[in-house]
Amino acid sequence: MTYKSTRGAVKGISFSEAVLKGIAPDGGLFVPEQDVRFDSLELAEMCGMDYKTLAAYIFKRYATDFSDEEIEYCVDRAYGKNSRFPADDPAPVVRLSENLNVLELWHGPTSAFKDMALQVLPAFMSVALKKKKQSAGTADGMGRIAILTATSGDTGKAAMEGFRDADGIDIMVFFPENGVSEMQKRQMQTQEGGNIRVVAVRGNFDDAQSGVKRIFGDDEFRRLIRKDGWQLSSANSINFGRLLPQIVYYFHAYAELVRSEQINLGTKVNFVVPTGNFGDILAAYYAFKCGLPVGHLICAVNSNSVVADFINTGFYNANREFMVTISPAMDILISSNLERLIYDMSGEDEKATSRLMMELMTGGCYNIDRSTLSGIRSLFWASSASETETTATIAEVWNRYRYLIDPHTAVGVNVYDKYVISTGDLTPTVAVSTASPFKFNRSVASAVFGQADNSGSSQEPLNTPDIGSINEFALLSILSEATGIDVPAPLAGLNKKQILHTGVCDKDAMKQAVLDFLERDAVRDVGRNGAQGA
Ligand SMILES: *Cc1c(COP(=O)(O)O)cnc(C)c1O
Repeated sequence: MTYKSTRGAVKGISFSEAVLKGIAPDGGLFVPEQDVRFDSLELAEMCGMDYKTLAAYIFKRYATDFSDEEIEYCVDRAYGKNSRFPADDPAPVVRLSENLNVLELWHGPTSAFKDMALQVLPAFMSVALKKKKQSAGTADGMGRIAILTATSGDTGKAAMEGFRDADGIDIMVFFPENGVSEMQKRQMQTQEGGNIRVVAVRGNFDDAQSGVKRIFGDDEFRRLIRKDGWQLSSANSINFGRLLPQIVYYFHAYAELVRSEQINLGTKVNFVVPTGNFGDILAAYYAFKCGLPVGHLICAVNSNSVVADFINTGFYNANREFMVTISPAMDILISSNLERLIYDMSGEDEKATSRLMMELMTGGCYNIDRSTLSGIRSLFWASSASETETTATIAEVWNRYRYLIDPHTAVGVNVYDKYVISTGDLTPTVAVSTASPFKFNRSVASAVFGQADNSGSSQEPLNTPDIGSINEFALLSILSEATGIDVPAPLAGLNKKQILHTGVCDKDAMKQAVLDFLERDAVRDVGRNGAQGA
């Protein structure tokens, strides 16, 4: 298997190189150059596998420059007995109703679905880095990776948990000082690990992100740190190493439906995916392409409805107001991974893809041709959920099923209801649940406490405390006691953990902050070598 850029200038790249580079030098995204196809016999075999075995089975077809031992190392670290996921099943499937199941992807260390990929990406990178060093014969200690990330909350924490103490890789995360929730800030400031630094930026998320982009684009800076063996890389979902692990859980969910005899092997299933940067649902599309029986992929967005509008009209228009919602991980106007879908659906037309992405960069919008659009619409269905609808869905699902969902998942369930009403399609469906309800507990508590129960159920509504006046840590136990659901362990202990990172910098001082961080390492290495020599 080799990889190529969606913009055509790069071809024949190995999996290792694609993962280390993150983004192609022509600005495009790496995609597989050959088709992967699992036939029905293989699908039957996959339906009998546990999560880790299934992951290895799929990885082998995409990471062909990794040995079996190297793949085993990656899946064992991410999903094995000593991993940060529950040993029996990292991604449980819960049956809600006759046709609807929920795939819970938030049982990892940060209680959001990004852990599913970010617990394995660092292992991919460490293996890839080792291979690169071996082939280049670089002296040990050289050829190190510095991951830089700006985060609005979820990605940064999940990346740090993944990369903590990874071989040859350091990670630095910038977050907007007043732009993340109490819980998210505490999650980051208490982060442990010898290869990590977290700094708050005086500004908003855009300031932090532009700062990081400027550093990536600064050739002189790259040359400077290269002298000490550093190469910059990204843990963002444009990295193919983040998409690959996400293909696995679609097969896993399918296998669970077969095992629980809800479907027969070969029956088509629909998936509903709460969507922001289009990474999660693109992985579902890749699963479909390589043989998973899928009916429709239902793309659910919040009031930032740019992607749903695109799927419904063929016109992508980012020139609109940015809305701050209660599902913040989906607040986005530029959805990067759509580039991979357009490339594929246009028959791998690299010229058209480059042109559309240029139009997006310069004018903020583009139009795709009719045949590409009809290809997309034959598989995808899309709609959005407003803030009111999202809150009402959390309450409704709680009242009807006594099952608690977070606002991102609620956007998915709301759009699923719209899909059934609009199409009448009762195909067995899996709704992807992307975060623990406790991670967004203020919105969840507001939705379930004292909401008028119009679901027709006879259960009593919960008593209403004054949510607004309670901090998010106290709210954890209030919500847990009222619902009888345990707080996930990583969130429960959070307010007792020691704060380790208190750094704050101006947006213009971010480059210097990175240098300080990387140089701390240079000094440490000299010391270590000196001690060994003595
Ligand atoms: C990142 C995220 C999403 C959106 O996923 P994409 O791959 O960007 O489409 C949805 N929900 C949660 C909780 C997230 O953290």
